[in-house]
Amino acid sequence: MPSKYDAIIIGSGSNGIAAAIRLQEKGLQTAIFEQAATPGGATRTSELTLPGFKHDVGSAILPLGLASPFFRKLPLAQYGLEWVHPEVAYAHPFEDGTAYACYKDLARTAAQLGEDEQAYLKLFGSLLSDWSKIDNDLLGPIGIPDHPLAFMKFGLKAMPSAQMLANHYFKNERTKVFFYGSAAHSTLPLTNIASASFGLVLTTGAHKYNWPFPKGGAGNFTAALLEHYRSLGGELFLNNPVIDVRDLPNAYAYLFDLTPRQLLRIKGLNFNSLYRNRMENYKYGAGVFKMDWALSEPIPFSSEKCRKAGTIHIGFSKEEIEESEKEIHKNNISGTPYVLVAQHSPFDITRAPEGKHTAWAYIHVPNGSTIDYSGVIENQIERAAPGFKDTILARSKMNTFDLQEFDPNLIGGDINGGKQDITQLFTRPIVKLSPYSTPDPRAYICSSSTPPGGGVHGMCGFHAAEKALHDHFKELM
Ligand SMILES: Cc1cc2nc3c(=O)[nH]c(=O)nc-3n(C[C@H](O)[C@H](O)[C@H](O)COP(=O)(O)OP(=O)(O)OC[C@H]3O[C@@H](n4cnc5c(N)ncnc54)[C@H](O)[C@@H]3O)c2cc1C
Repeated sequence: MPSKYDAIIIGSGSNGIAAAIRLQEKGLQTAIFEQAATPGGATRTSELTLPGFKHDVGSAILPLGLASPFFRKLPLAQYGLEWVHPEVAYAHPFEDGTAYACYKDLARTAAQLGEDEQAYLKLFGSLLSDWSKIDNDLLGPIGIPDHPLAFMKFGLKAMPSAQMLANHYFKNERTKVFFYGSAAHSTLPLTNIASASFGLVLTTGAHKYNWPFPKGGAGNFTAALLEHYRSLGGELFLNNPVIDVRDLPNAYAYLFDLTPRQLLRIKGLNFNSLYRNRMENYKYGAGVFKMDWALSEPIPFSSEKCRKAGTIHIGFSKEEIEESEKEIHKNNISGTPYVLVAQHSPFDITRAPEGKHTAWAYIHVPNGSTIDYSGVIENQIERAAPGFKDTILARSKMNTFDLQEFDPNLIGGDINGGKQDITQLFTRPIVKLSPYSTPDPRAYICSSSTPPGGGVHGMCGFHAAEKALHDHFKELM
């Protein structure tokens, strides 16, 4: 191992790799140090249930991986990345066996919504036409937007709660439930200010890019990123937990793909007490309870739309989803929680042995919960897919503790690197001119605990790398 690099990245999650690629493509010599035996952080695939059944342990549906202004420019197809696009981006089943489907085609989606058709077209049509003007600003730190008018138009729609937005635009309960399905990805109560923003961004993304996933598993996305990184001359050291920065080779910049609590534990960094105190007050959000199944057949959803969807949002009424997302923040869980389901094998035969299938799901739970919620999750899926339980060959369950064991960034099961409420959405980890820099001029934070937050888009890593380039290698910018 050389005794000096230009920059060292600690952690090989999608943001760590994005930062490393950005620096390496500028001609710097970089290395990634990863504590785990396999790279990728929360973007890995593993046989969690039975031999031959490939499950995404963390992230599973990667629209932001395709839409990311940084990742979409990389030649990842050259390194084996193939995107799978189910016909339906996401579906939302109702108790009578019918469902709504979100297609890439905006008009086809709106056509299902009866008297809400025009309102849906108006809401998402304008966001879709402005998307290429606002995506860079949405996926970055707060600053002066490139297109202030378009950004302000988005901001006015995104600021209310999901409940307010749904009530304002839509008349039918079912359309509101459909919108709640994507807004609830926020892991916030749907009455919280700005909870609408998640539904707007994710649904506009579905109409622009669909909700695809990598053939063979999310781990193949990590593999393609790393192949590209290595082709540029980058180095990766696995099984290398970083405890003290002084044990690492010398470098001008150290970029940490860690959340604040972990960063504060790293020895040898020169942080003042004010910064430490502010970082200690960083808030983590709800956790998740995650399940994977090996199945004898695809999930037998009553609705064909659900059978054709990669993602299925389960929650059978507005009240049910509202209650589910509110209870978590009172340290409780409702008996009929909102469930996020993903199915890959109906569209990607490489995921399971011939004729067999896999499924993936999680619910939001109180941070740090160790309760087994597998029964309520399977009951909810059974309501949308009678006979589901009979198809189960094996199951894997991960509570918040298991998830943090799998990836130490998942503090208390929080999958977004910290709470994404209005106080931390654009100003994470603390309010600061550059959220990526720290008081130690060599140390940067590049994880999802910086803007734009959770998701496999690599933009936290990209912006942190830009800041390090600006500070130490201005001549390369
Ligand atoms: C169950 C689950 C489902 C999800 N579903 C989706 C989804 O469908 N779509 C989506 O876009 N996003 C999803 N996400 C969120 C997404 O995975 C994360 O937002 C993303 O992985 C964040 O990337 P990151 O690089 O910031 O951190 P991580 O991916 O968490 O990577 C951090 C890395 O740092 C390493 N590390 C930690 N401490 C040290 C140390 N001291 N020394 C060296 N290395 C260290 C870790 O081992 C890890 O490899 C999901 C996450 C989970 C857990």
